[in-house]
Amino acid sequence: MRFVIVGQGISGTMLSWHLLKKGADVTVADEYQPNSSSHIAGGLMNPITGRRFVKTWMADTIFPFAETVYHEMESVLNVKFLHPIPIHKILYTTEAINDWSTRCGDAQYKPYLCNELLVELDQQFYFTKHAFEINGGFWVNSTLLLNTYRQWLKNQNRLIEGYHTWQELQHQFPDAKIIFCNGVVSQNKNPFAALPFTPTKGEILMVEIPDFNLPAVINGEITLLPTEQPHIYYAGATMHQRFDNDKPSKSGLYELKAALDATLKVPYKVVDHLASVRPAVKDRRPLVGFHHTSKNMAIFNGLGTKGFSLSPYLASTFTDTLLEGNPILPEINVARFL
Ligand SMILES: Cc1cc2nc3c(=O)[nH]c(=O)nc-3n(C[C@H](O)[C@H](O)[C@H](O)COP(=O)(O)OP(=O)(O)OC[C@H]3O[C@@H](n4cnc5c(N)ncnc54)[C@H](O)[C@@H]3O)c2cc1C
Repeated sequence: MRFVIVGQGISGTMLSWHLLKKGADVTVADEYQPNSSSHIAGGLMNPITGRRFVKTWMADTIFPFAETVYHEMESVLNVKFLHPIPIHKILYTTEAINDWSTRCGDAQYKPYLCNELLVELDQQFYFTKHAFEINGGFWVNSTLLLNTYRQWLKNQNRLIEGYHTWQELQHQFPDAKIIFCNGVVSQNKNPFAALPFTPTKGEILMVEIPDFNLPAVINGEITLLPTEQPHIYYAGATMHQRFDNDKPSKSGLYELKAALDATLKVPYKVVDHLASVRPAVKDRRPLVGFHHTSKNMAIFNGLGTKGFSLSPYLASTFTDTLLEGNPILPEINVARFL
């Protein structure tokens, strides 16, 4: 069976990877956008999120699965982009400490709450004193993964570059199933335009902090991630559903600097400021499935804030739907809106 995948962000990357692994004939059409959501993403996979420190949806299934898939890709692509990393979640209030302490007593949370002792943050660097450690987190060097995979597709003549309308693709590949993994780029110009996307803009800063060695991801008012460049950290991200464009803004810069100033005592220098738009959805669940009138059109999108943890598993299950007719999880099936 032949598939044309529109988009090579993390969604199109993961779906094409699983389809190719199962022997399908796949072509990926992608316009390279260095500021796409997947390129700008921190690539953080955090199993415990939100103000009440709740286990992320399907964490017990998707995290081990994602780790295996990323390792498989690393070995085929011969590059290392997956990094296990502890996450230090800052506790600002007594209520937060109590919430954390309750979670520690819950057996379901044991694999993720690494130990039951608070982490003492070094007062030389931080304004706040306490954090707890989350185990089982990873960060993915997103641009390294996307660029290496892109080259791998190219070497196999499976990539067509540039922007392509679905009508063009349908004309060029009349027997193929076209699968939209196009993020927010062309929501108004495709057969799935009616789906309730809530595009959410995110801005981040790359900052240089001399003499600072982050032992973990710091997750508080702002998330600070180490990068592979010495002393350069990724700091983000803002979340706004109302915005004029997808470019870095002055207000975004102020918001990020204020959050950094409230977290770090040490001086830092902003070396870059980037922005993109997340393909989020009204009910915060991905959009996966077939068009209601044309079964030759499908979508794998709406990964919102969690593309890097959700996509390996969901792309694998959707591959089984496409090749073997397995059912789609009702929570993510586009049929809930169509
Ligand atoms: C600031 C920020 C930080 C984030 N941090 C994290 C994080 O730490 N962890 C995490 O898991 N997630 C994070 N996310 C969310 C994550 O980035 C998204 O969930 C994910 O990238 C969505 O991937 P995608 O492939 O669906 O879309 P995209 O990454 O937008 O990819 C879509 C691709 O399709 C191409 N395209 C679209 N239409 C066409 C067409 N007609 N023809 C050809 N090509 C086309 C585009 O050019 C693009 O390359 C973050 C997002 C932002 C904005």
